[in-house]
Amino acid sequence: MAAEAVLEGAEPGAVTVDLYDAMPSVGRKFLLAGKGGLNLTHSEPHDTFLSRYGKARDRLAPLLEAFDAAALRAWAGALGIETFVGSSGRVFPAGMKAAPLLRAWLARLRAAGLTVHARHRWRGWSGHELLFDTPRGARTAPADAVVLALGGGSWPQLGSDGAWAPVLAGRGVALSPLKPVNCGFDVRWSEHVRTRFAGAPVKTVVAFATDIEGREHRQPGEFVITEHGVEGGVIYALSAPLRDRIDAEGSVTLHLDLAPGREAARLADELAQPRGRRSLSTHVQSKAGLKGAKMALLREAVSAADLADPARLAAAIKALPLQLVSARPLAEAISTGGGVAFDALDGQLMLDAVPGVFCAGEMLDWEAPTGGYLLAACLATGRAAGLGACRWLGMKAEG
Ligand SMILES: Cc1cc2nc3c(=O)[nH]c(=O)nc-3n(C[C@H](O)[C@H](O)[C@H](O)COP(=O)(O)OP(=O)(O)OC[C@H]3O[C@@H](n4cnc5c(N)ncnc54)[C@H](O)[C@@H]3O)c2cc1C
Repeated sequence: MAAEAVLEGAEPGAVTVDLYDAMPSVGRKFLLAGKGGLNLTHSEPHDTFLSRYGKARDRLAPLLEAFDAAALRAWAGALGIETFVGSSGRVFPAGMKAAPLLRAWLARLRAAGLTVHARHRWRGWSGHELLFDTPRGARTAPADAVVLALGGGSWPQLGSDGAWAPVLAGRGVALSPLKPVNCGFDVRWSEHVRTRFAGAPVKTVVAFATDIEGREHRQPGEFVITEHGVEGGVIYALSAPLRDRIDAEGSVTLHLDLAPGREAARLADELAQPRGRRSLSTHVQSKAGLKGAKMALLREAVSAADLADPARLAAAIKALPLQLVSARPLAEAISTGGGVAFDALDGQLMLDAVPGVFCAGEMLDWEAPTGGYLLAACLATGRAAGLGACRWLGMKAEG
């Protein structure tokens, strides 16, 4: 996006734009996002949309206003990729794949004059020049303006390994530590749950937890039991408050309503009906509709005495406590929090400490849930950084 903004703003031949990437090809994480359907942005009202960025909302708002969901959809459309709004309000490309979009985009950029240098790992600076490791050894390159869009630290095998953090810190750039966002969590499962239920989806629940300031967050949806703990929809959605409480307190209790839509008192009445010779599992299945993984979770977290008491059993079904002991490692997360502090940047995303160097995308210190908010902010900040570079180069920057 940054390269595109510069190429669009320049008179033909007036500027050369080079894109360097450590990997043998560009956009690998973008392609991975395509495996899940490539959720590009969200169609909800703009104010609600902005609220998803939490503390970074005010810093991102002008950039997301300059390149909002409608602009993003028009941009994809101009590349020949129509978009549609799914039932959840999320926006996807028709075909739900990243490859056709990336292919069309790279073709347009190359036609506009972009030169791509693959297998160039940026290491920092050598004097005033950029320093790269390449298969042919170290190489330097001059640049009048630089946009860094080096990603966070998740899925490092796709190229973004966060190795830029000490390089920028060494230049006096304020950073907060990289941390997992939209991540799974570890639970100390019994051998029974780990061996019998790893991989099992748990549908449909309402998960709820209290954040560090005492506010409750509730999320309906589903999740998956893993060998290590839990991951998936509702877990990712609550991951920021859960992670922050673990960081502060060592662990956090997530509660699960295993029977959403059923009222606790009625559930207790139903469970109090005589079960005769039926096993507890059969009784709970017929009265509360729980079986399989949900039943295993119930047995995992509730004592035999509570299981035998209809009122306490109903209470446990409506608010099953699950202790989460740690976030899964950053390398496994969907996205990264922490990174370059907004206070280290001017309004054009240029580093105060390194004039002429701009930053964009996931390497900036913001976080958001899944729902298209990640790519939307990466694209908007990329465009803003490119326009900032135009201005720095003395070019006319529209928008
Ligand atoms: C499984 C998965 C699914 C996702 N699905 C979605 C989705 O549907 N919707 C959504 O909004 N978001 C999604 N995301 C998140 C989204 O893909 C990222 O937020 C986005 O790709 C970040 O863009 P970026 O350009 O900032 O960084 P990246 O896409 O990580 O790109 C950074 C680039 O910098 C290169 N690089 C890093 N360090 C160096 C270096 N030292 N030298 C040279 N090059 C370097 C890397 O090779 C990489 O190509 C998903 C993420 C994952 C892991």
